[in-house]
Amino acid sequence: MTSSSALVCDGCGQMASAEHIARRLQRLEWTTRYRPVHINTLFLGAFSPQDEKDFLYAPGGEFRGQAALLLEAVGISTAGKSAEVVHAEFQRAGFFLTHVLECPIEGVGSLPAEVQGALKARLPAVATRVRRSLKPKRVMALTEALSSVVQDIVMLDLGCSVLLDRGKPFRLEKSPGENEVERFREALAGAAKD
Ligand SMILES: [Zn+2]
Repeated sequence: MTSSSALVCDGCGQMASAEHIARRLQRLEWTTRYRPVHINTLFLGAFSPQDEKDFLYAPGGEFRGQAALLLEAVGISTAGKSAEVVHAEFQRAGFFLTHVLECPIEGVGSLPAEVQGALKARLPAVATRVRRSLKPKRVMALTEALSSVVQDIVMLDLGCSVLLDRGKPFRLEKSPGENEVERFREALAGAAKD
């Protein structure tokens, strides 16, 4: 028997290698830098993207995937700007992005049921973090991946309201004949007034 050095990651609850923990700490450092003192709108996604280029707070400034979709939806353009400028703009607007799992899902081809289980298991910790530490004025649930637990999220005591798109998380991908992004913007604009 070889001894295992695996730990449970405090950012996602998954069994974690040293590399997993190192990446988690790196993301935490990038993210903390741009956390607003008073969070107006907390965007809550399901889990951190696998690819760092899709991670909003990564310093590379490529803003692909999820990061690009969110910035476009909130109306922050990235053209000709450094990553710091974009991050500062997002912060100044009182926006903060976090995920139920603050790390990517480990293991390829994780079954939807396993993903749902992993998300569900984290919800009590998420609720505590939102209520005691982040204290946003409102939470906006984002991405399809959160759909399976969205009703559980609504039941949590987050100390603030949870905005949904017709009972579902907001989707930021544009799809033909749908106007999810418009509904997201309307909800965000309405939220900013209170
Ligand atoms: Zn983790």
